[in-house]
Amino acid sequence: QFPGLRYGELVERRALRQPLRAAIIHEGAHITYGELLERIHAAAAFLTTQGVRPGDRVVCVSENRPEILTALYACSRIGAVFTPIGIAAPAADVKFILRDLSATTVLVSERSVSTALEAVGTDTEVSIIQLEAESRHGLPSIPVKTAAKVGEIQPEADSPAIIIYTSGTAGHPKGVVLTHSALFFNGVNTLLGLDIASDDVTLVNTPLSHIAALNTLAVATLHKGGSVVIDSKFDAIRCLEQISEYGITTMFAVPSMLTLMAQSPGFAQADTSSLRWILGGGAPMPPELVALWSARSVPVLASYGMTEAGPSISFRRRTDASGKAESSGTPALLTDVRIVSADGTVLPTGETGEILVRGPHTASTYWRDAKATEAAFVDGWLITGDRGLIDADGDLCITGRSKEIIITGGENVDPAEIEHLIASYPGILDAAVVGRPDPLWGEVITAVIVSESNVELNELQDYLRPHLARFKLPRQIERREELPRSPVGKLLRRELSILPPDNS
Ligand code: ATP
Ligand code: MG
Repeated sequence: QFPGLRYGELVERRALRQPLRAAIIHEGAHITYGELLERIHAAAAFLTTQGVRPGDRVVCVSENRPEILTALYACSRIGAVFTPIGIAAPAADVKFILRDLSATTVLVSERSVSTALEAVGTDTEVSIIQLEAESRHGLPSIPVKTAAKVGEIQPEADSPAIIIYTSGTAGHPKGVVLTHSALFFNGVNTLLGLDIASDDVTLVNTPLSHIAALNTLAVATLHKGGSVVIDSKFDAIRCLEQISEYGITTMFAVPSMLTLMAQSPGFAQADTSSLRWILGGGAPMPPELVALWSARSVPVLASYGMTEAGPSISFRRRTDASGKAESSGTPALLTDVRIVSADGTVLPTGETGEILVRGPHTASTYWRDAKATEAAFVDGWLITGDRGLIDADGDLCITGRSKEIIITGGENVDPAEIEHLIASYPGILDAAVVGRPDPLWGEVITAVIVSESNVELNELQDYLRPHLARFKLPRQIERREELPRSPVGKLLRRELSILPPDNS
């Protein structure tokens, strides 16, 4: 095996070369690369004394803080598998994950102590350890210095380094097993596709429990030797302040964050001139947002990724950030992309079908879920569950999720086409098209809209009629105050595909 394969080893190597530079900045305090390495050693030694052994799963429930990264790298040094969970997770979800992993260690922050206590309950097998160096609860806590270092474990390339649960947008979260090798290649793929430099200052304010913050930006910036500014959570006003205060050069944002920043009162005056680009992803990036940021010379680079791919699949280049609205960029260098029809036939350029992805950076199993594994990982290809096409320029365009396809009267209908059309009607602020169960049609097409008050539903119907085949015309249009979205801003369609309580 080659040097650098172990997840975390590259950061340790970086720390030895530039110990005095700032690695992490949090609440105004700097942690140098040298201090980060010291903390990694201290945490590795401590977790060992607490009985954590190679192969053990260590769960970490916390808001964004530097100790997450220390614990992650410490686990890697001692061969343990790391699973981060966001602070918003209810105790029931933490309990589910602890059981699913048969984990015996859960790391907590001050703010997640009570959640963890509730999740662990009377299970005496699971020990709770505090991330912060001091615990007000009498819990064992991870020190920042150590007298005795432990040697590193050299893992097998295909042994798990992290298990990260999917967002649960379409169903129950699944534990994605990412091996040391997959993570190594994801790191390479990301640095080949994204322009990250050694003097970048990256703002991380999306949850480190999500693969995008963790692996695309935080870890990639540390690999290059840049600095990561960690905020516990996203706040539009604070985010704009931090950009000018720290001279932030790169960050990741889901579309709703960019909208909230643009709506915040200080946006017009805010100094965002230090930003070289913003990586957008997680959900379709509205072209108006790209244009808005482009007007202040900040390219928003749409990208496509998923937990199962580690997550990098495609990126837009800086030079064509504001080109085609529908493009999520070109596939990353190590990534092969195929579009296939329902029967598995490979489709030509320009045709829409299911997106398949192959590369050394993808997962190849879900944790202890043979059925889901068999369905998603076939002949070396990852079945993404997303639909899209590759256009004549080689750009990947995502049109939606396969599961969102509505089958009405035997016809397959892609909700994206109808949604785009509705969105083009004056006064529409947001729209989603879903299928609702129907005894006659199988599913009936329903549009749920958020609009200004002067939008008349029957006039909207009249507008749609000449543009859509009869079977694609929404049979029901419903108005709401807002559409249900997940904490990372993803549309929760399954909540719209059942009748709202007040209508039934
Ligand atoms: P679950 O798999 O549990 O339902 P999830 O798929 O939302 O949750 P993630 O792995 O966090 O969990 O998200 C990946 C998904 O996000 C992709 O499969 C895709 O559906 C969506 N997505 C990511 N990037 C884009 C993009 N540029 N355009 C449209 N959708 C995107
Ligand atoms: Mg998914």
